[in-house]
Amino acid sequence: MSELPKQVRCVVIGGGIIGCSVAYHLAKLGWQDVILLERKRLTSGTTWHAAGLIGQLRSSSTLTKIAKYSANLMAELEAETGVVTGFRQNGSLSLALSRERMQELKRQATMGKVFGVEAYMVSPSEARDKHPLIDQKGVEGGLFIPANGQAYPANITQAFAKAARQRGVRIFENTKVTGIRQADGRVTGVDTAQGAISAEYVVNCAGLWAREIGRWAGVNVPLLAAEHFYVVTDASPDIPRNLPVLRVPDESAYVKEEAGKLLIGFFEPNGKALPDSKIPEASEFLNLPDDWEHLSRELELASERLPILKRIGLHTFFNGPESFTPDGRWVVGEAPTLRNFFVAAGFNSIGIQTAGGAGKALAEWMEAGGPTMDLTSVDIRRCQPFHGNTTYLADRIGEALGLHYADQFPHRAPSTARGVRTTPLHDRLLERGACFTEASGWERAGWFLPEAARDRGEKAEYRYSWGRQTWFGHAGEEHKAVRTGVGLFDLSPFGKIRVEGRDAEDVLQRICANDVAMPPGRIVYTQWLNGRAGIEADLTVARLSSDTFMVVTSSATVLRDLAWLKRHTPEGAHCVATDVTSAEACLAVMGPRSRQLLAGLVDVPLSNDAFPFASWRQVEIGYAVGRAHRVSYVGELGWELYVPSDMARHAFDALVERGADVGLRLCGSHALDSCRMEKAYRHFGHDIASTDHVLEAGLGFAVKIDKPRGRFGDFLGRDSAVAAKQAGLQRRLVQFMLADAQPLLYGNEAIWRDDRIVGYLTSGAYGHHLGAAVGLGYVTCPASATARDLLASDYAIEVANEKVAARASLEPLYDPKGERLRG
Ligand SMILES: Cc1cc2nc3c(=O)[nH]c(=O)nc-3n(C[C@H](O)[C@H](O)[C@H](O)COP(=O)(O)OP(=O)(O)OC[C@H]3O[C@@H](n4cnc5c(N)ncnc54)[C@H](O)[C@@H]3O)c2cc1C
Repeated sequence: MSELPKQVRCVVIGGGIIGCSVAYHLAKLGWQDVILLERKRLTSGTTWHAAGLIGQLRSSSTLTKIAKYSANLMAELEAETGVVTGFRQNGSLSLALSRERMQELKRQATMGKVFGVEAYMVSPSEARDKHPLIDQKGVEGGLFIPANGQAYPANITQAFAKAARQRGVRIFENTKVTGIRQADGRVTGVDTAQGAISAEYVVNCAGLWAREIGRWAGVNVPLLAAEHFYVVTDASPDIPRNLPVLRVPDESAYVKEEAGKLLIGFFEPNGKALPDSKIPEASEFLNLPDDWEHLSRELELASERLPILKRIGLHTFFNGPESFTPDGRWVVGEAPTLRNFFVAAGFNSIGIQTAGGAGKALAEWMEAGGPTMDLTSVDIRRCQPFHGNTTYLADRIGEALGLHYADQFPHRAPSTARGVRTTPLHDRLLERGACFTEASGWERAGWFLPEAARDRGEKAEYRYSWGRQTWFGHAGEEHKAVRTGVGLFDLSPFGKIRVEGRDAEDVLQRICANDVAMPPGRIVYTQWLNGRAGIEADLTVARLSSDTFMVVTSSATVLRDLAWLKRHTPEGAHCVATDVTSAEACLAVMGPRSRQLLAGLVDVPLSNDAFPFASWRQVEIGYAVGRAHRVSYVGELGWELYVPSDMARHAFDALVERGADVGLRLCGSHALDSCRMEKAYRHFGHDIASTDHVLEAGLGFAVKIDKPRGRFGDFLGRDSAVAAKQAGLQRRLVQFMLADAQPLLYGNEAIWRDDRIVGYLTSGAYGHHLGAAVGLGYVTCPASATARDLLASDYAIEVANEKVAARASLEPLYDPKGERLRG
């Protein structure tokens, strides 16, 4: 091995499959002077013992593209290096043992069509034909994906390493990184036992050690190891070769055939988190103690499903540590708090099948200075400080492992480590029948069980399904109250960023696509764009005074938005941004009777002249002094009341007391979502993200191309917005409403236009006022197509493998002219 260099362009930490893939992809992009440091030997962390299942259909378009790329890369890697990756496309068969699971698999079959992965349903007997070892008992059907399969994880890693070396990457084994160096908010290198290395870039691919390494750098990488078990049988001539990979999620099991043996792995519902202290410092190729008792139920179910197991012996019980994240999604990207420090970790049991695409995505991000694909769901900027809390992780991670094979029901919230963040109104809402769900650690009222139902002994609790869940009717009533009367939402989790300083206006003019050079008292809705006019943030900006603004954004994106704002504040500008989310509660009073409710409660006139839409006023409410913002995410007349958190309760009491006279109804997040869907309001992370062009998203009305060039230049993304305006749009965000009132939409359903799939829904909900499910989705179109051309077609939405006729609209189907907002 050559001597460790003193200075390089990039250090990759970790010689598992992810680190080797990142190094390979950087080299492929032409990066010189890249080194990879592995504290022991390549693959000796989690990678060596992976089962090697390779799946290609994931929960989103981007994640599927990443998995497909990873699978397709294997042949190329083999050809390039001569290392056999063992990739076999023997297909995969997932069985459903319940009608709910059948619905899930059917929806996946539809997603397969959308994302270009062949996937089809099979009957119980067809399932048995494909996998003769299974007992059909209780099987409702299955999903078969021919291009899926299995491979050798260690070999793929060695192939990445060899290909990387061939392109100039230097790999150092037995070289432990012991510290991260930084200066002025930027990484500058690493420490090792053999000395320090200066580097322009550092990439943390240290698997289950990535959290600790992140901590050295002040970067939050929330993950924890869990014990992941599989058993391997003796070889038997009765085990056919080339069986498809079998998944029986209802029995928490997966099965692969290898060399005439069966490997049976588990995602048991009560997974076991593994504290760092139980992973010996010097460990490599670690196999933890067995635990037959923990798996007794799963093993019994497996031997019923595969009767051959009663006849052949088990020769291996394997228990490997593997990193899981609290939301089950991997963590990738540049740390929001440290420039040029990148992370790719927390792969939740899909690191082998994801490695190729994840390595490419990260390398491209490093090269381009931002993500080149929509990585919102796995982006490190979603991680909040509490996510990295040790107790929180210890409580959540066992469940995260089990959720892997649990029913993937819509709106499913985890049941462990709850109550991390509660709003000041939490107990008030609980007393009034709130059923809580979770978002970014916040307990949010999803819906309310009315008093009469509580008196009958009903409980405010979720019972998940793919059909109408327990809350459907109640949320429908809340929705209608907002449309015809008045509803009160606790929106306190909204992210709030206070931006202050004598350059605050100039800074925001540079970052916002809308015009914020407005008098105090006004509010604008705006996007923050990247250089491609892709949407980095979607929020409102209220001008509080000549030098102070309040940015209001979603709870999930507040840290990401804060990081974007700080990063794009020009050097030396007099402008400070602070996250003040917890300082203020937000009580949103929405609906045609909101003016009536507030009149007399607040001390300002509420007429359109005195208090127009998109403005705010200081108000007294109860004993509190706060701000009323006249904006709405539900498409009705309404005000968001921002009051200091410590005064929220009496403001709430005053509203509720007064509300009795006007039929005020407490409303939850399901009603908020269904109302916004009727109004076609976009949701960041679903309908819009960094790869969605703001004009294609239909948000051109908020892009002020002609606003005067500011002190810090034109607003970010302006050139690309102008270019797209001239060149025409390649796709448009369209709203759909099903012709049939029965089916439900959740997102990822296929959009058919005249017998051709032209896109998929990015979100969906039930339009309780419109009377059917509504969805939003991008439709590809020639740049020359007019709105009329686009709509002059027959549209249908494919739901769980069945087409349902749908109406398409470029204007919101509810209140297209926005008259109700301004009423
Ligand atoms: C039982 C089991 C079955 C699995 N089956 C599958 C499957 O079928 N399909 C699939 O896709 N995935 C599967 N996985 C998951 C997969 O193995 C992981 O997601 C993947 O290996 C993670 O790779 P990694 O590179 O992130 O981590 P690792 O392989 O752990 O690599 C991280 C490396 O960083 C090194 N390191 C740590 N600290 C330092 C330091 N300070 N300095 C230098 N180096 C350091 C470690 O030594 C280690 O080698 C399975 C996992 C288990 C446990």
